[in-house]
Amino acid sequence: MANHVHEALRDFFSIVPVEQRTADTLVTLLQKKWRRYRIGFRDRLEERRWYEKAVSQLRGFLLQQELTVQPFMLEAPIEAEITTGLVLRGRVDRVDKESSGSLHIIDYKTGKPPEQPDWTQLQLLALILSRRFPYPVNKLSLHYLSPGTIKTTELHGEELQRAAWDLLRTARSIAREKHYTATAGPHCFNCDFLQICPAKGKAYEQDIEGDFELWRDSLANLTAQAPASHSSNPPLVEPPIC
Ligand code: SF4
Repeated sequence: MANHVHEALRDFFSIVPVEQRTADTLVTLLQKKWRRYRIGFRDRLEERRWYEKAVSQLRGFLLQQELTVQPFMLEAPIEAEITTGLVLRGRVDRVDKESSGSLHIIDYKTGKPPEQPDWTQLQLLALILSRRFPYPVNKLSLHYLSPGTIKTTELHGEELQRAAWDLLRTARSIAREKHYTATAGPHCFNCDFLQICPAKGKAYEQDIEGDFELWRDSLANLTAQAPASHSSNPPLVEPPIC
């Protein structure tokens, strides 16, 4: 669901003229994404639950947004060499350029907000952008779509510097390691090795941006339905949304 929501928002903020950016347009974009990729649901009812949750998140999101914004970047991979031999890669959901000329990184989250947001991910994205563009990155925002909460913080030079030092320390420690223990989590779903990883089961048990209940239900059902020959492809279901 998270991918569908992210892609729909990307396409939505790409629409020009901006007058066409309406709630109906956004829902139509979501439906298009949904029809293209629909695996992993137990049945129509479950797919319907996910879909309605996504629509509700997007409609709530629009009520809080300045819809005419022309983002500086949308759903873009970024990378920069932080120091010799250390290339940092990431992906931004959206970057706005403020009237002051500074950049504002916005990240969409489809799960529930934690008590204390962790800004590390966005600080590292800011580090990459600060190496790539001649504009300062002064603001970071996390948009939690489910309750419709927006957390925003200002970013100062010292914090960016600290993020860079933390990164270098982490990179140095990784370079010294000889044994790696698999640490499963939401990041596994962007990992090329997920299907052969011994921690695959744990990865599915982790909270995926707060949609834990639905994922747990799906996993239990798929495990029960899996044929003896083992197929990683769950059964397709009929379209519930059109
Ligand atoms: S799937 Fe395995 S190797 Fe990939 S990130 Fe998760 S734990 Fe690490």
